[in-house]
Amino acid sequence: DKHNRKPFVGGNFKMNGSKTMLKEIIDRLNALKCDDHVEVVIAPPTLFLDLAHRSVREGISIAAQNAFNCSKGAYTGEVSPEQLKDLGIDWVILGHSERREIFKESDEFVASKVAHALNVDMKVIACIGEKLEERESEKTEEVVIRQLKSISEKVNNWRNVVIAYEPVWAIGTGKVATPQQAQEVHLIIRNWLAKNVSQQVAQDTRIIYGGSVNDKNSSELAKQPDVDGFLVGGASLTEKFITIISCFV
Ligand code: PGA
Repeated sequence: DKHNRKPFVGGNFKMNGSKTMLKEIIDRLNALKCDDHVEVVIAPPTLFLDLAHRSVREGISIAAQNAFNCSKGAYTGEVSPEQLKDLGIDWVILGHSERREIFKESDEFVASKVAHALNVDMKVIACIGEKLEERESEKTEEVVIRQLKSISEKVNNWRNVVIAYEPVWAIGTGKVATPQQAQEVHLIIRNWLAKNVSQQVAQDTRIIYGGSVNDKNSSELAKQPDVDGFLVGGASLTEKFITIISCFV
């Protein structure tokens, strides 16, 4: 039953914002009373993680947008899960479609990063989702399950994982999935977990939707039985984020 899962709303700022903007966003979130109903996690750019961590009130968590698959070494420009932990960052987004597409991250690479992050006790927002041509050629299920399977093989503790279903054609396009389209894939994911991991994990794991979520479309999506929250990009930078979170309050 959906009510056993605490709704989860993540804000993925991507490579946007400034210190001033971050402060505005955090001031709005700090003023919102929602902790009994919804878990809120924001993912600012790496260089603002420490400031964000020090600025949010208790009850709001911070996620990195990426992390590497080992602890230290000659990897110019990378950040390790251990370093994030050292800063007090609990969460990391892995496998985002922009990482997969622009930075050519393979299923295997994403899985190795999931493994490393979980092994040092970080919590992971693991992103999966099909491209437009894959949906049009009816490969949605195949692609989403391939990505999910690759990640799931590395998961030791499902309590530390949130799955984000983000159809690539919906990300940053204004073309949101319909509530029915989202529900259909979320159910496919949950059924796969039930069959291949366990009934308990299928029941307990939050599956959130991402891709052009805004203050207008969020409430219908939120009503779907297998939609447990959102990963919000563009709208997380604006006051619309508060309305989206409030769907669950
Ligand atoms: P969007 O991005 O809400 O701007 O479509 C979502 C995401 O990439 O997580």
